[in-house]
Amino acid sequence: MVTPFPSAEPESSDAPKRILLVEDEPAISGFVRRGLIFEGYDVTVVTDGRDALEAIRDHPPDVLILDLMLPNLDGINVTKRIRAAENTDADERLPILMLTARDSVADRVAGLNAGADDYLVKPFDFEELVARVRALLRRTRQPAAVQANEILQFADITLDLTSRTLTRGEEEIELTPREFDLLALFLRHPNQVLTRSTLMQRVWGEDFYGESNVLEVVIGNLRRALEISDHPRVIQTVRGVGYVLRQRA
Ligand code: CA
Repeated sequence: MVTPFPSAEPESSDAPKRILLVEDEPAISGFVRRGLIFEGYDVTVVTDGRDALEAIRDHPPDVLILDLMLPNLDGINVTKRIRAAENTDADERLPILMLTARDSVADRVAGLNAGADDYLVKPFDFEELVARVRALLRRTRQPAAVQANEILQFADITLDLTSRTLTRGEEEIELTPREFDLLALFLRHPNQVLTRSTLMQRVWGEDFYGESNVLEVVIGNLRRALEISDHPRVIQTVRGVGYVLRQRA
Protein backbone atom coordinates (compact mmCIF):
# COMPACT_ATOMS: atom_id res chain seq x y z
CA MET A 1 0.00 0.00 0.00
CA VAL A 2 1.12 3.51 -0.72
CA THR A 3 0.43 6.37 1.61
CA PRO A 4 -1.27 9.25 -0.14
CA PHE A 5 0.39 12.62 -0.05
CA PRO A 6 -1.63 15.15 1.91
CA SER A 7 -1.45 17.69 -0.89
CA ALA A 8 -3.15 19.02 -3.97
CA GLU A 9 -6.27 16.88 -3.85
CA PRO A 10 -8.37 17.92 -0.88
CA GLU A 11 -11.58 16.60 -2.45
CA SER A 12 -10.26 13.09 -2.87
CA SER A 13 -11.44 10.33 -0.59
CA ASP A 14 -9.15 8.62 1.89
CA ALA A 15 -8.08 5.64 -0.13
CA PRO A 16 -5.46 6.29 -2.79
CA LYS A 17 -6.79 6.10 -6.31
CA ARG A 18 -5.77 2.96 -8.08
CA ILE A 19 -4.01 3.20 -11.41
CA LEU A 20 -3.26 0.28 -13.64
CA LEU A 21 -0.39 1.03 -16.00
CA VAL A 22 -0.01 -1.26 -18.98
CA GLU A 23 3.34 -0.64 -20.60
CA ASP A 24 5.94 -3.04 -21.94
CA GLU A 25 8.83 -0.58 -22.06
CA PRO A 26 10.52 -0.78 -18.65
CA ALA A 27 12.07 2.67 -18.94
CA ILE A 28 8.68 4.30 -19.41
CA SER A 29 6.77 2.19 -16.90
CA GLY A 30 9.51 2.75 -14.33
CA PHE A 31 9.47 6.51 -14.50
CA VAL A 32 5.69 6.76 -14.74
CA ARG A 33 5.19 4.36 -11.85
CA ARG A 34 7.63 6.15 -9.56
CA GLY A 35 6.13 9.51 -10.39
CA LEU A 36 2.56 8.40 -9.81
CA ILE A 37 3.45 6.77 -6.51
CA PHE A 38 5.10 10.00 -5.47
CA GLU A 39 1.85 11.78 -6.33
CA GLY A 40 0.03 9.46 -3.95
CA TYR A 41 -1.51 6.97 -6.32
CA ASP A 42 -1.62 3.24 -5.84
CA VAL A 43 0.05 1.93 -9.01
CA THR A 44 0.13 -1.52 -10.51
CA VAL A 45 2.15 -2.24 -13.65
CA VAL A 46 1.55 -5.06 -16.11
CA THR A 47 3.36 -5.50 -19.40
CA ASP A 48 0.91 -7.05 -21.82
CA GLY A 49 -2.69 -6.86 -22.89
CA ARG A 50 -3.87 -10.17 -21.53
CA ASP A 51 -2.44 -9.50 -18.11
CA ALA A 52 -4.16 -6.13 -18.22
CA LEU A 53 -7.60 -7.67 -18.72
CA GLU A 54 -6.93 -10.13 -15.93
CA ALA A 55 -5.78 -7.39 -13.57
CA ILE A 56 -8.85 -5.27 -14.35
CA ARG A 57 -11.14 -8.19 -13.68
CA ASP A 58 -9.43 -9.15 -10.45
CA HIS A 59 -8.99 -5.67 -9.03
CA PRO A 60 -10.64 -2.88 -11.04
CA PRO A 61 -8.56 0.32 -11.09
CA ASP A 62 -9.89 3.91 -11.03
CA VAL A 63 -7.93 4.80 -14.15
CA LEU A 64 -6.25 2.73 -16.82
CA ILE A 65 -3.12 4.03 -18.54
CA LEU A 66 -2.72 1.85 -21.57
CA ASP A 67 0.10 1.70 -24.06
CA LEU A 68 -1.12 1.11 -27.58
CA MET A 69 1.61 -1.23 -28.80
CA LEU A 70 1.69 -4.21 -26.47
CA PRO A 71 2.55 -7.89 -26.68
CA ASN A 72 -0.26 -10.46 -26.93
CA LEU A 73 -3.19 -8.07 -27.12
CA ASP A 74 -2.70 -4.45 -28.18
CA GLY A 75 -4.19 -1.40 -26.53
CA ILE A 76 -6.98 -1.04 -29.09
CA ASN A 77 -8.18 -4.57 -28.49
CA VAL A 78 -7.85 -4.26 -24.74
CA THR A 79 -10.01 -1.12 -24.89
CA LYS A 80 -12.59 -2.78 -27.11
CA ARG A 81 -12.88 -5.72 -24.76
CA ILE A 82 -13.23 -3.50 -21.72
CA ARG A 83 -15.96 -1.42 -23.35
CA ALA A 84 -17.77 -4.48 -24.66
CA ALA A 85 -17.93 -5.86 -21.13
CA GLU A 86 -19.15 -2.61 -19.59
CA ASN A 87 -22.66 -1.55 -18.95
CA THR A 88 -23.48 1.16 -21.50
CA ASP A 89 -25.14 3.20 -18.75
CA ALA A 90 -21.72 4.81 -18.60
CA ASP A 91 -21.63 5.25 -14.84
CA GLU A 92 -19.30 2.31 -14.59
CA ARG A 93 -17.02 3.30 -17.40
CA LEU A 94 -13.35 2.85 -16.64
CA PRO A 95 -11.45 5.99 -17.66
CA ILE A 96 -8.78 5.04 -20.19
CA LEU A 97 -5.78 7.15 -21.14
CA MET A 98 -3.99 5.70 -24.13
CA LEU A 99 -0.30 6.19 -24.80
CA THR A 100 0.51 6.35 -28.49
CA ALA A 101 3.59 6.72 -30.60
CA ARG A 102 4.48 10.01 -32.15
CA ASP A 103 3.08 10.88 -35.58
CA SER A 104 0.51 8.18 -35.60
CA VAL A 105 -2.76 10.00 -36.10
CA ALA A 106 -4.46 6.83 -37.30
CA ASP A 107 -3.60 5.11 -34.00
CA ARG A 108 -5.06 7.96 -31.97
CA VAL A 109 -8.29 7.92 -33.94
CA ALA A 110 -8.49 4.15 -33.61
CA GLY A 111 -7.89 4.43 -29.86
CA LEU A 112 -10.65 6.97 -29.36
CA ASN A 113 -12.98 5.00 -31.60
CA ALA A 114 -12.33 1.89 -29.56
CA GLY A 115 -13.42 3.80 -26.46
CA ALA A 116 -10.35 5.44 -24.94
CA ASP A 117 -11.16 8.74 -23.21
CA ASP A 118 -7.95 10.53 -24.00
CA TYR A 119 -4.52 9.91 -25.38
CA LEU A 120 -1.03 11.13 -24.77
CA VAL A 121 1.69 11.08 -27.41
CA LYS A 122 5.11 9.70 -26.51
CA PRO A 123 7.40 11.18 -25.41
CA PHE A 124 5.38 13.11 -22.86
CA ASP A 125 6.10 15.18 -19.79
CA PHE A 126 5.21 13.53 -16.54
CA GLU A 127 3.34 16.69 -15.46
CA GLU A 128 1.08 16.37 -18.45
CA LEU A 129 0.38 12.74 -17.70
CA VAL A 130 -0.58 13.58 -14.11
CA ALA A 131 -2.84 16.40 -15.30
CA ARG A 132 -4.65 14.04 -17.68
CA VAL A 133 -5.03 11.41 -14.97
CA ARG A 134 -6.49 13.98 -12.57
CA ALA A 135 -8.89 15.19 -15.23
CA LEU A 136 -10.07 11.65 -15.87
CA LEU A 137 -10.54 11.02 -12.16
CA ARG A 138 -12.50 14.21 -11.65
CA ARG A 139 -14.56 14.16 -14.77
CA THR A 140 -18.24 14.58 -14.26
CA ARG A 141 -19.94 11.30 -14.73
CA GLN A 142 -22.39 11.15 -17.56
CA PRO A 143 -22.25 14.90 -18.17
CA ALA A 144 -25.08 15.06 -20.67
CA ALA A 145 -27.37 13.85 -17.90
CA VAL A 146 -29.70 11.35 -19.41
CA GLN A 147 -33.32 11.33 -18.43
CA ALA A 148 -35.60 8.43 -19.07
CA ASN A 149 -37.49 8.37 -22.34
CA GLU A 150 -35.80 11.47 -23.61
CA ILE A 151 -35.57 11.94 -27.35
CA LEU A 152 -33.68 14.79 -28.95
CA GLN A 153 -34.32 15.89 -32.52
CA PHE A 154 -32.85 18.25 -35.02
CA ALA A 155 -33.78 18.27 -38.71
CA ASP A 156 -33.68 14.58 -39.75
CA ILE A 157 -31.57 13.56 -36.75
CA THR A 158 -33.14 11.68 -33.86
CA LEU A 159 -31.21 10.73 -30.76
CA ASP A 160 -32.92 8.40 -28.32
CA LEU A 161 -31.21 8.80 -24.96
CA THR A 162 -32.88 5.78 -23.45
CA SER A 163 -31.87 3.24 -26.03
CA ARG A 164 -28.80 5.30 -26.93
CA THR A 165 -29.55 5.06 -30.62
CA LEU A 166 -29.10 7.60 -33.38
CA THR A 167 -31.01 7.72 -36.61
CA ARG A 168 -30.63 10.14 -39.47
CA GLY A 169 -33.44 9.90 -41.96
CA GLU A 170 -34.05 6.18 -42.22
CA GLU A 171 -30.57 5.13 -41.25
CA GLU A 172 -29.41 3.94 -37.88
CA ILE A 173 -25.91 5.20 -37.06
CA GLU A 174 -23.53 3.84 -34.46
CA LEU A 175 -21.59 6.20 -32.23
CA THR A 176 -18.99 5.77 -29.54
CA PRO A 177 -20.08 6.92 -26.05
CA ARG A 178 -18.13 10.17 -26.38
CA GLU A 179 -19.57 10.97 -29.79
CA PHE A 180 -23.00 10.23 -28.41
CA ASP A 181 -22.56 12.57 -25.43
CA LEU A 182 -21.19 15.29 -27.67
CA LEU A 183 -24.08 15.03 -30.10
CA ALA A 184 -26.58 15.08 -27.22
CA LEU A 185 -25.02 18.32 -26.02
CA PHE A 186 -25.34 19.91 -29.47
CA LEU A 187 -28.93 18.74 -29.79
CA ARG A 188 -29.79 20.40 -26.49
CA HIS A 189 -28.38 23.68 -27.78
CA PRO A 190 -29.29 23.93 -31.46
CA ASN A 191 -28.18 27.05 -33.33
CA GLN A 192 -26.10 28.09 -30.36
CA VAL A 193 -22.35 28.43 -30.62
CA LEU A 194 -20.63 26.17 -28.08
CA THR A 195 -17.07 27.08 -27.27
CA ARG A 196 -14.30 24.53 -27.24
CA SER A 197 -13.92 24.89 -23.49
CA THR A 198 -17.65 24.43 -22.90
CA LEU A 199 -17.64 21.28 -24.98
CA MET A 200 -14.53 19.95 -23.26
CA GLN A 201 -15.91 20.69 -19.82
CA ARG A 202 -19.31 19.24 -20.48
CA VAL A 203 -18.22 16.09 -22.25
CA TRP A 204 -14.81 15.38 -20.72
CA GLY A 205 -15.11 16.83 -17.28
CA GLU A 206 -14.90 20.01 -15.35
CA ASP A 207 -11.27 20.85 -15.53
CA PHE A 208 -10.06 18.94 -18.47
CA TYR A 209 -6.55 20.03 -19.04
CA GLY A 210 -4.01 20.52 -21.75
CA GLU A 211 -3.66 21.18 -25.41
CA SER A 212 -5.15 17.90 -26.48
CA ASN A 213 -6.92 17.95 -29.82
CA VAL A 214 -9.16 15.14 -28.66
CA LEU A 215 -12.20 17.38 -29.28
CA GLU A 216 -11.26 17.92 -32.92
CA VAL A 217 -10.74 14.22 -33.43
CA VAL A 218 -14.10 13.30 -31.92
CA ILE A 219 -15.92 16.09 -33.83
CA GLY A 220 -14.32 14.76 -37.02
CA ASN A 221 -15.52 11.25 -36.28
CA LEU A 222 -18.99 12.48 -35.35
CA ARG A 223 -19.26 14.43 -38.60
CA ARG A 224 -18.21 11.41 -40.63
CA ALA A 225 -20.83 9.32 -38.87
CA LEU A 226 -23.57 11.91 -39.41
CA GLU A 227 -22.64 12.55 -43.01
CA ILE A 228 -22.97 9.01 -44.30
CA SER A 229 -24.94 8.73 -47.53
CA ASP A 230 -24.06 12.36 -48.28
CA HIS A 231 -26.23 13.84 -45.59
CA PRO A 232 -25.37 17.55 -45.26
CA ARG A 233 -23.11 18.79 -42.50
CA VAL A 234 -24.90 20.03 -39.39
CA ILE A 235 -21.97 20.56 -37.02
CA GLN A 236 -20.36 23.75 -38.29
CA THR A 237 -17.01 25.14 -37.23
CA VAL A 238 -16.98 28.65 -35.82
CA ARG A 239 -13.36 29.57 -36.35
CA GLY A 240 -11.43 30.49 -33.27
CA VAL A 241 -14.47 29.88 -31.05
CA GLY A 242 -15.98 26.44 -31.26
CA TYR A 243 -18.84 24.68 -33.01
CA VAL A 244 -22.53 25.08 -33.66
CA LEU A 245 -25.32 22.71 -34.64
CA ARG A 246 -26.89 24.50 -37.58
CA GLN A 247 -28.23 23.74 -41.01
CA ARG A 248 -26.55 25.58 -43.79
CA ALA A 249 -28.82 28.00 -45.63
CA1 CA B 1 4.76 -0.58 -26.20
